[in-house]
Amino acid sequence: MYMDRRSFIKKMLGLIIGTGVLYLPAFDIKTFAASKWRRDDLRIRENKFLFAEVPEKRIETNRIIVHHTGTTTNRDMSAAEIHKLHRDSFGWAGIGYHYVIRKNGIIERGRGWNMVGAHAQYNNDDSVGIALAGNFCIGTPTPAQIKSLTDLLVSLCGIYGLLPDELSILGHRDVNATSCPGDMLYDMLPQIRKRVMKRMGLDLPED
Ligand SMILES: [Zn+2]
Repeated sequence: MYMDRRSFIKKMLGLIIGTGVLYLPAFDIKTFAASKWRRDDLRIRENKFLFAEVPEKRIETNRIIVHHTGTTTNRDMSAAEIHKLHRDSFGWAGIGYHYVIRKNGIIERGRGWNMVGAHAQYNNDDSVGIALAGNFCIGTPTPAQIKSLTDLLVSLCGIYGLLPDELSILGHRDVNATSCPGDMLYDMLPQIRKRVMKRMGLDLPED
């Protein structure tokens, strides 16, 4: 049966992650998947934000959407500051992003990992939103931010069984009319996807 490259890798991912568990009956697939991509140095700084209303649970996760915070200056911004802005000024339930990556590379929890986010209009139901602090129309992400973004993407692609290609890892501008996440970050996404692919051991030779 003909299978294109993407389907092949998807199938391989499925095997590893457990949707194809029948193929490897004697193996604890889930434990393997978790240990394969969990990084001991990937730390999420937890937040206990109070939401105006409890966001809905997200049923499926097919995409990861990358943002910048887009402040008028290219400055740092905490998840707490964004939460306050989104809840108290925008009138949303609370912070719309699932993760915020600070200038120093620290990854902060935003919205609960299994909740529907509010970060990309009409595209929230099946996506995870990651925001890097700064404005990358006028500045560049820090090396620490890019390292943390790569680590987080490796982890999330592993957890959700996503192939780190341009259909699964998107810039906000790919789905809505916006300059987000700024040219300086958007132009780095192809290289970042490649790095994630390699780290997941999926950089198969070109066919
Ligand atoms: Zn955005």
